Amino acid sequence: MSTMLEYDVVVVGGGPAGCMAAKYAAKTGASTLIIEADTEIGKPVQCAGLISQRAIEESETKDKSFINCEIKGAIVRSQSQELMIKSPGKSAFAIRRDIFDSVLAQEAQKEGAEIILRRRVKSVAKGAGETKLRIRTANGKEEISARVVIGADGVKSKVAKMAGLRVAKSFLNCVQVEGVYKTEDAFADFAEIFVGNTIAPGFFAWAIPLGAENIARIGLCIDKRFSAQSNPLLYLKRNLAEHPLIAKRYKGARSKFTAGTIPVGVRKRGQTVRVDKGILLVGDAAAHVKPVTGGGVYYGMKCGKMAGEIAAKASLTGDLKMLTAYERRWRKEIGKEIAFGVKVHRLRCILSDNDFDTILQTLSQEALLQQIQEKGDIDYPSIVFHEFLKNPRLIKLMAKNIIKYLYTK
Ligand SMILES: Cc1cc2nc3c(=O)[nH]c(=O)nc-3n(C[C@H](O)[C@H](O)[C@H](O)COP(=O)(O)OP(=O)(O)OC[C@H]3O[C@@H](n4cnc5c(N)ncnc54)[C@H](O)[C@@H]3O)c2cc1C
Repeated sequence: MSTMLEYDVVVVGGGPAGCMAAKYAAKTGASTLIIEADTEIGKPVQCAGLISQRAIEESETKDKSFINCEIKGAIVRSQSQELMIKSPGKSAFAIRRDIFDSVLAQEAQKEGAEIILRRRVKSVAKGAGETKLRIRTANGKEEISARVVIGADGVKSKVAKMAGLRVAKSFLNCVQVEGVYKTEDAFADFAEIFVGNTIAPGFFAWAIPLGAENIARIGLCIDKRFSAQSNPLLYLKRNLAEHPLIAKRYKGARSKFTAGTIPVGVRKRGQTVRVDKGILLVGDAAAHVKPVTGGGVYYGMKCGKMAGEIAAKASLTGDLKMLTAYERRWRKEIGKEIAFGVKVHRLRCILSDNDFDTILQTLSQEALLQQIQEKGDIDYPSIVFHEFLKNPRLIKLMAKNIIKYLYTK
């Protein structure tokens, strides 16, 4: 069976980046369609669901039913040190991504965007004046044409591949489980971060409380280039069974393990736009992720708005050259933050467990801790890292590791 639909803007993928892009394309006046491969928006969930107050504001949602609880700070733990960071007035929230994504989809629909589910885009080909998407459905094949296509189809983006675009510099491999996790009351609304080469080489492990019944999301990412084992599940299973704190607190899963991949860093300019094919990439497909924390929801929504607006304008005027403005705009907003984050990530990958101890011990000094609490920002971590670089002990440690890094390379 073959049908032919035509839209000004087609968004492939109904995650936060895609929903926001579709909302803004429709708002700008373009006929807009989201094509989503899964049977439901927001499922399956592959996310720890920790986002900032700023991200919630960026979502523009009135319905806040997706919030699990407020997170009041973080406790960072290395093998022998711990640092408790309170974040007064700068809230973060644990959210349910399935509900969050479906609220975003509804908001896009309210602006006029249409959504079709259970349709996987198989190919993207340029025709005369439009881009054709071939889609596989339960009943066979369909073809949909669009003046502009936005690839918001996640880290393994088919749209990027078909457009010959390679964005991410490297990837993290992640696993998570939701389960019973009994913390002391004093830490009940603090996210825990665990660093160390036997715990989560090249990244960190986390436990994010969900506000009730001692349930938490417990997970980790690894950077395979720096880990002895390439399967992150082996580390998670070991942490759950043997880590002195995690194993004591973890009382069993209430959901299965989920796994996912996170892109780290943008390779080079020009990889998120194909003017000749009328294609833009956004969200994980464009590596719009903070390399320091792995969070991509806020940047995905932020860049989704830009992509949707620019795609609609280009499509409605027929001037595809306008699409080049997209990369300029997102780079201006988050390009430097991502590039700085890549450097921090690379350094983190080669730190020893003793280095992590020294860093946490240094940061525990009152003045530094106060700076972290005042300037720490999960969406823009470079602000506080620049402060760290003024501390002589940390400069010395970093200098040693930069030399080590250059030799490791
Ligand atoms: C374990 C883990 C924990 C994380 N924790 C956090 C966190 O706490 N905070 C945070 O901000 N970020 C977190 N992230 C990152 C965050 O989940 C992503 O950055 C975010 O989901 C990216 O949104 P997106 O819209 O770009 O892509 P996605 O949310 O991945 O959505 C892409 C959509 O495209 C669809 N799709 C794919 N291919 C096709 C196709 N060919 N045709 C049609 N549809 C298609 C998919 O089904 C999917 O619905 C985490 C990631 C992982 C893996």
